[in-house]
Amino acid sequence: MSKFLIDKFQSLDVYTPGEQPKDMEYVKLNTNESPFPPSKGVLERISSEEVLKLNLYPDPDCSVLRNKLAELYGFDSDNIFVSNGSDEILSFAFMAFCSEETGAVFPNISYGFYKVYGDLYNVDYTEAPLTENFELDINDYLNVNKTVVIANPNAPTGLSISVESIEKIVVSNPQNVVLIDEAYVDFGGKSCIELVKKYNNLLVVRTYSKSRSMAGARLGYAFGSKELISDLNRIKYSTNPYNINRLTLAAGEAAVDDNDYYVECCEKIVEVREYSKGRLKELGFEYLDSDSNFIFARSKKIGGEEYYKKLKENGVLVRHFSNPVISDFVRITVGTKAQMDRLFEETEKILKGA
Ligand SMILES: *Cc1c(COP(=O)(O)O)cnc(C)c1O
Repeated sequence: MSKFLIDKFQSLDVYTPGEQPKDMEYVKLNTNESPFPPSKGVLERISSEEVLKLNLYPDPDCSVLRNKLAELYGFDSDNIFVSNGSDEILSFAFMAFCSEETGAVFPNISYGFYKVYGDLYNVDYTEAPLTENFELDINDYLNVNKTVVIANPNAPTGLSISVESIEKIVVSNPQNVVLIDEAYVDFGGKSCIELVKKYNNLLVVRTYSKSRSMAGARLGYAFGSKELISDLNRIKYSTNPYNINRLTLAAGEAAVDDNDYYVECCEKIVEVREYSKGRLKELGFEYLDSDSNFIFARSKKIGGEEYYKKLKENGVLVRHFSNPVISDFVRITVGTKAQMDRLFEETEKILKGA
């Protein structure tokens, strides 16, 4: 840190991304990426012709992509915002809709970035504890008179709340934005995007990083009332109007055209997830009943950190969180069946030695 960095950033707890070690080839089940490649259409769109246009700025309105997403999901393109990863939408939304006065509430166990943005933008936020069963207590979010931020399904638990509960939260906080982060909704969760047509204070955020196999391209999108979307545009046009590069825009458009392929990929992942739950049970693990592309699991025979370390020594990466509320768990991304079988093989060996 230099002496020039202003005080509030010196003490900031920054987000810690999942590790990407390069020392050996790992079975990578730690950052919830898709094990499947992007669709053929995406591959074709990133052509040398497209690369040759990199001397030109991309379309700051991203109108082709927004129109395609609008059509796919049955919205007007004015209800769609796109960004450089959904993290950027979250950042813009915290900047736009949360402050010391407005405040915010989100679960104490959830996506780590909410707290980081809360700190970064000096938000007076509250972290609502999960119940004993690691579920959200809806009462913590009713009539709070604060911006509400909920990942649904939640991360890293994989558990969902119902669309009815979300509607109650939205209705009970008419003076505040309710942000629902649907990063994992395509793996069997229930989406609340239809509520966007009814309520002007609901913002639903999604990403291409998990269900559309494009974590490396950085693309996120959001649904909201025209007013909320225009608020986000005010932030975007005050920070980085060309926030999505040409290649990512092209890839994102092609991916919408190939939506069927991604639906199939998600179905395969759900199948492997259910198979994996069965295998984990056989191995004596307990897990939360995930609706997402990861499983949050723990064993009475081995602690979360030790299990994570031993898997890593044996070439399998999963994610461990040191927060004491969840430190006996690991979060396992659902990969291909072959990748999961490798995990179970290593787990059997570890448990025999443990
Ligand atoms: C992965 C993830 C994101 C970030 O997605 P990007 O589009 O890659 O920035 C946002 N929210 C949750 C809950 C996530 O798990």
